[in-house]
Amino acid sequence: MNKHRGLLIVLSGPSGVGKGTVRKELFSQPDTNYEYSISMTTRNPREGEVDGVDYFFRTREEFEALIKHGGLLEHAEFVGNYYGTPLAYVQETLDAGRDVFLEIEVQGAAQIREKAPDALFIFLAPPSITELEQRLVGRGTETEDVIARRIATAREEVEMMSLYDYVVENDQVQNACDKINAIIVAEHCRRERV
Ligand code: 5GP
Repeated sequence: MNKHRGLLIVLSGPSGVGKGTVRKELFSQPDTNYEYSISMTTRNPREGEVDGVDYFFRTREEFEALIKHGGLLEHAEFVGNYYGTPLAYVQETLDAGRDVFLEIEVQGAAQIREKAPDALFIFLAPPSITELEQRLVGRGTETEDVIARRIATAREEVEMMSLYDYVVENDQVQNACDKINAIIVAEHCRRERV
């Protein structure tokens, strides 16, 4: 392991778990010493979002051209729009010895597992995920079909979790941020020992 190369930190997890909120909180802290990789997307900006700050907002044609030219570290289609990580920024920042933080959905994280297996993978989980199956069965309010589909989804999520180095429950945003920062410090100690 090259001591002088930065660490690629991947925060992922199921949709709606609060990844964006946790990421914004991490980067609002003054002592954060890793760099956020701004993603590219084809979705329309939401009110208040700024091109080049929240995302690089691009057309589908522009996005597809970048895929073709190998300009993205990973990309995925999520609810009808493309999302992806521009490769050049990540490479340059890691080469300069700075850590890079990605906040991405699970398909993209799986691609990075293949391409950059020495990245640090953190799964943000809802607090109830471990009890989800039992609760779904025990609750008795849903049809069998709905319960089966929800259990299938929960199982898929649990399977994904096992591919990650760490699972952090998002019980409270500040707790989750503290744990993520502790994990990053611990990873540096583990990887940089001589
Ligand atoms: P939103 O539209 O709410 O900003 O983001 C939708 C989803 O896309 C979220 O789960 C977010 O983490 C994910 N996402 C944001 N940027 C990227 C990216 O560069 N790559 C991938 N694969 N997912 C992303």
